[in-house]
Amino acid sequence: MKYHCEICSYIYDSKQGDPEQNIAAATDLEDLPSTWVCPQCGVGKENFYPLSEDSPVPPGEAPQNIMIMALTQSLWQICGRGSCAVTREIGKLFITQLKSQGITLDNKEHALEMVKDYFINVNRFARDMDYEIKEDTVEIEVKNCRFFGTCSKLEDQSVLITTCPYSNTAAAALEEVSGFRYRIEKTQKDFGHHIVLTPISEINRKRTIKIKNKIKKLNEMGEKEF
Ligand code: FE
Repeated sequence: MKYHCEICSYIYDSKQGDPEQNIAAATDLEDLPSTWVCPQCGVGKENFYPLSEDSPVPPGEAPQNIMIMALTQSLWQICGRGSCAVTREIGKLFITQLKSQGITLDNKEHALEMVKDYFINVNRFARDMDYEIKEDTVEIEVKNCRFFGTCSKLEDQSVLITTCPYSNTAAAALEEVSGFRYRIEKTQKDFGHHIVLTPISEINRKRTIKIKNKIKKLNEMGEKEF
């Protein structure tokens, strides 16, 4: 019998067991010890449900995880550390999406609450997310991330995971309400992430607008040439 993890789509096959956690072949889900956790995202067996032959969910690794892995790897190969600049745009994109739903970001706490609502309650990227606003920094704990397995594989290949949506979006949200650019530090912790965001420099909005206008002009010129 096969079982599907509702958080990360990992499949537990009772025929094979889980040798890495000393689970013998032919161990059914209900006979797994209470200490057993999903090897990809860390949730317990209560988060698994049976996968029958005619299940609407096709067996195999979640395709979105494979796509994210390929995109992050490619981005890293082409841009290296420069991919941080590219992926900051991911955060801004999510913020634009929030705003298009009529949501305004009032202050740091409200901004982080909106980020949490978007990723945890609405889109279920992870099981939970806690945040703490300290005097200077903001600390975020993401628990049982859907992409933990993917992130681990990327880290094993020494790929810097700049595509982390919580980091990018929380940084973009904080930048929006505080006017400061934030440095992102992210470490893996218990099948999730520990993220520290530190304000580093005030955003010069006038300069940003000037650069954006310049890029727009260059794009328009390029289009004309074609
Ligand atoms: Fe899982």
